Amino acid sequence: MDEKPYQLFSAMFLNPTAGGILSENGFTVINQPEEQAILSAIWQNLGVGKAEFFSKDRISLIHPEDREAFLALKERLDSGATDKEKGQFRFISKDGRIVWLELSFRIISRDEQKKPILYSIHDTNITELIAARDEIRERLVEIESLKELLVSINQSLDFNETMSKVISYLHRVIPFDSATVQGLDEGILHIVGSYGYPESAVDGFTFPIKGMDNPSARAVSSRRPIICNDVQNEFKGFKQVENTPLIKSWLGIPLVYEGRAVGLLALDSSQPNFYNEHHVRIASNVADHISIAVEHARLHTQVKEEVRTDKLTGVANRYGLETLGQDLFEKARDLDQPIGVLMIDIDHFKEVNDRDGHSYGDQVLRVIAKGIAHSLRTNDYLVRFGGEEFVTILPNTSTREAFVVAERLRQSIPQIKVDATSTCPTISIGVFSGVPGAQDSLHEFIRKTDLALYDAKQAGRDKSRVWNPSLELDGNARTHVT
Ligand code: GH3
Ligand code: MG
Ligand code: MG
Repeated sequence: MDEKPYQLFSAMFLNPTAGGILSENGFTVINQPEEQAILSAIWQNLGVGKAEFFSKDRISLIHPEDREAFLALKERLDSGATDKEKGQFRFISKDGRIVWLELSFRIISRDEQKKPILYSIHDTNITELIAARDEIRERLVEIESLKELLVSINQSLDFNETMSKVISYLHRVIPFDSATVQGLDEGILHIVGSYGYPESAVDGFTFPIKGMDNPSARAVSSRRPIICNDVQNEFKGFKQVENTPLIKSWLGIPLVYEGRAVGLLALDSSQPNFYNEHHVRIASNVADHISIAVEHARLHTQVKEEVRTDKLTGVANRYGLETLGQDLFEKARDLDQPIGVLMIDIDHFKEVNDRDGHSYGDQVLRVIAKGIAHSLRTNDYLVRFGGEEFVTILPNTSTREAFVVAERLRQSIPQIKVDATSTCPTISIGVFSGVPGAQDSLHEFIRKTDLALYDAKQAGRDKSRVWNPSLELDGNARTHVT
């Protein structure tokens, strides 16, 4: 017989560390009064010989948390209460490993005082079994969390609420100190949801995605997760939210929707060398769902933006005025600040159309809208109110300041070229400003600018006029015609 297979077989059989199935089970027989034992290979694997087995200090072989249970089991056997007992205990091997053993005791004989003489232990190393069980439990928590997450994404219409729920669930399954969900828009990542950051710190905070020394850029452009466990040394271009604890480990999962990167999920830890493939797997599962939520929110914003925008000129339309314009009005009321409103109407525009054609008229409208937008501040809001009328909302602007803005527009617009040979027609402007009180409405403010505009037209056009109470008495009130 060839010696080699035999050697292999005996090695597996006898050597508990060789990975053979038999090495995981053992049978031990003990003679207690004589301190004699035939120990199974499992004890040998632990580094426990007869000396340790019968030493006074033998309880120290067992993990401190399991000692009480072990002693209770031993007491039931010693007292004669039972002849059969089974328990699972953690043992500490000589080289410091923790090994789970399942021990099945059986008393074979007792003396006159019922004290055990001979007993056997069927011992099984269940370390891997316990590890598998723990892993299954962990996975169940993951699955449960993911399920709840899906339900919450589907139920919630509020994007920010969805994002904070998503991150909280994620925090149950992956450790992190802080985290952000970032949306990708026109080459810039901006924070759309966060955890562990003060709101003021992340509000409006953006991350560039240019330059490969930045891990966000790499994750987004490669559409692959990036583990970075030594942030300061691996990525010189790493940018973190200001005045927050130093991030040492970073995990970035790109948010991909139909093959396109739509954002990034970034997890931060202040511990170095923290993230591994296990975290990547869990975070990637969740990221798939976040991607959908982020993309839907983006489309929702885009559609909302579109319905607020005037197709011809690209500025806001009447619906924009009713929503964002209204918000500005409420804000002025809350802050107790004046809000200025201008009503701008192109002079004799009908003649422009009649003379130069409708499409030239359209071009004039586009050029004037652009001209007005260009000369306003970023916080001002421009609306195409009707055919050839525009309304501008000027936050924190007094009557005097609003009039100055109006005059500036009135003088500059007719100088703007429409094409090589012609410039824009003149405009007339009605002005009103006030601090909105509890009873006031934006519509009321606009009605007053309309009266002032009528006054400007009456005065011969190419004028700015401020509302005054006498206009209300003039019987000039007209029904609004655009
Ligand atoms: P006034 O100085 O009194 O404002 O005279 P006006 O001709 O500008 O006023 P009116 O209200 O009589 O005419 C407005 C004209 O604006 C009529 C209409 O043909 C034109 N208009 C409205 N919307 C559009 C548009 O979208 N494109 C073009 N090309 N013309 C438009
Ligand atoms: Mg007009
Ligand atoms: Mg008009």
